[in-house]
Order: sequence, then C-alpha cells, then structure tokens
Amino acid sequence: MQLPTYDDVIAAAARLEGHAHRTPVLRSSTANARWGAEFFFKCENFQRMGAFKFRGAFNALSKFDATQRKGGVIAFSSGNHAQAIALSARLLSMPAVIVMPKDAPAAKVAATKGYGAEVVMYDRFTEDREALTRRLAQERGMTMIPPYDHPDVLTGQGTAVKELIEETGPLDHLFVCLGGGGLLSGSALSARALAPECKVYGVEPEAGNDGQQSFRTGKIVHIETPKTIADGAQTQHLGEYTFGIIRRDVDDIFTVTDEQLVEAMRFFAERMKMVVEPTGCLAFAGAIAAAKAIEGQRVGIVISGGNVDLSRFAALIAPQ
Ligand SMILES: *Cc1c(COP(=O)(O)O)cnc(C)c1O
Repeated sequence: MQLPTYDDVIAAAARLEGHAHRTPVLRSSTANARWGAEFFFKCENFQRMGAFKFRGAFNALSKFDATQRKGGVIAFSSGNHAQAIALSARLLSMPAVIVMPKDAPAAKVAATKGYGAEVVMYDRFTEDREALTRRLAQERGMTMIPPYDHPDVLTGQGTAVKELIEETGPLDHLFVCLGGGGLLSGSALSARALAPECKVYGVEPEAGNDGQQSFRTGKIVHIETPKTIADGAQTQHLGEYTFGIIRRDVDDIFTVTDEQLVEAMRFFAERMKMVVEPTGCLAFAGAIAAAKAIEGQRVGIVISGGNVDLSRFAALIAPQ
C-alpha cells in the first residue's frame, strides 16, 4: 500500500483554492494565561458546512473523471461527512446519495437533503449499511467515498494544518482530534513537512481509545461503538491508510473524558464566543490536560467543527 505524501496535500490545497474557506487562526490571552502556553486555534468550525470534512470531500470529488462525475457519489454517514459530500457534489454538479440510519437526527437528514442529496434510509438493527451502499453503488454506477480511509480524503483534511503552520510559523506542539484518523494523518503529513520539530498528538474520547491502543500495540484495534458525547469520534477502528501514517508520524495519542470536553466547550463559548461541537473540543481538552508538558511553548489546536443542535449545546454548557 502506497501512503500519500505532503505533495498530495499541496495538490489538494490547489483544488480547494477558491472553494474552501481559509479559516481563521484565533488567539486567546485568557487561554494563554490560564494554561501557561501560547495557543493558536485553527477554527474549522467556521469551514463550509461547519467542519473540516468539506476539505476531504471536495478534494476527492474534484478528482473524479467524466464517467464518475456522471454516475455521482455515494456515502454512508449520519454526521458531517454526509453534509460534506452532499455540498461538494452540489458544487461540482454531480448526483449524491447518502445512506443514513432511520433514526438519524432529523436536523442532519434535513441539512443533507438541503444540500441537494438523495437520502436513503436503512434499519441499523437489521440491515448491513456497507452491503446496501455497495449494492446501490453498483446498480447506479456511483463511486463510494469513505469518511476517512481514503488518500484523497485524508490529504484534503491535511490542508487545514498546512494553512495553520504557514500562518503561525513553526509550532512546538500540535493537538488534533481523532476519530478514524483522516484529520490526524493529514495534519501529521503537513506538520512533518512544515515544522519537523513539532510534536503531533491525537486526542480521542476515553470511552473509545481504539486509536491509542492501536498506536501502542502496532496493529489496528477494533472496539464496540463507544458511548461519548463526541459523536464525531465514535469510530470503531482506524483505517489502513490513516494508521499507516499515524504510527509513523504521530508522537502520541491521549484521551479525555466527556467532562473535560464540556469544560473546553464552555471555555470556547464563554471566552471566545464560539459554538464548538463536543468532538471539536477534543484537541483543546487534550492540551489542557497536558498543560504541564507544554508550558511556555507554542501550541497549535485544531478545532474540527461546530455542528451541534442548539438545545443540546445549551444543555451541555448550562451551569451545573
Ligand atoms: C469526522 C470528525 C472528526 C473525526 O475525524 P477523523 O478524520 O474521522 O479522525 C472530528 N471532529 C469532527 C467535527 C468531525 O466531523
């Protein structure tokens, strides 16, 4: 298996130019004072459709040939990948089918349909979504794009940290949230190329530390779907491509609890006036927990997304 390289991230950045937002890098003197480091927040909660996933999806779809464009794209997801694929397909004028569980949140279904995709529902308890997706892909001549384990997806995700380090200059540490590893592996490619001394860490929910276990044992560990408020990181295992890069280029993987995520979420809302979804808080929660080790140093934080129901957001940040 050939792993993608930083050159592929550069090519992805050229495809995204003029289509993805160049998201802001925010600072917070309160955060710097409270946790004793110099933080640079790359705010992908301000990306199109509200998360970094637009980058990977748009990059992958941009590479389709004429036949693939005509057939369109199919994906299974109830989260940000669904919206990223739907929006990218609309921008590139191709059909999109998103396979979602019948019990997916109504808001997510509506958002995906709003971007013009066809939504096909399946029963989580009786149907195999991968088999269903493969059958539909074949019947309709569509190309399937997975949420993380694909070279074009992960190199697209890597463009966020490329922008970050180009703007800030070398960093000492970089914290990135970890689900299936598309964002972390792409970020690691960029960090290794642009700031070779920078330490790169993945942060995942304590309840689902398959990435940490995989990193430590050297093989991909599979787990049951973890119970955590970080719904974007409820993956059961890393991918072949993502793990190949993570084990080579990442320095360590940390975990945080849901309580630590809520603390970071409150900080973003109260001090930086930002809505960040629980999964988007993983990286900063991990950095806070590692405050002693990063004291006085320059620390990049990738805020991955901001898609959360307002009622859920309100309930999570409400004073206890
Ligand atoms: C998908 C997602 C993640 C996890 O990304 P992976 O590439 O699967 O590791 C993190 N945060 C948000 C907001 C996401 O949508």
